[in-house]
Amino acid sequence: MTTQLVQRTSTTLPACWRRRPNALDAPTAPRIPQPVQLYTLLAFTLDLHGPLASGGRCEACSEPWPCESVRLAYRLREGF
Ligand SMILES: [Zn+2]
Repeated sequence: MTTQLVQRTSTTLPACWRRRPNALDAPTAPRIPQPVQLYTLLAFTLDLHGPLASGGRCEACSEPWPCESVRLAYRLREGF
């Protein structure tokens, strides 16, 4: 009696059986802390939204100055 071994390659396996990156693995690259990300986002928002030279409107969203995004960013920045 002879036994034949069937070699399966990863291409013959269904996609759901293939190995994927494990989300529970420890990250290899250091992550940026969330306060730094939030403060960077606040600085970007305050830089992007500014008053137009003519009229009292925001140059990014055309809402009356100060727009809601700037008000929220300013309040969050004061929380730091
Ligand atoms: Zn705006």
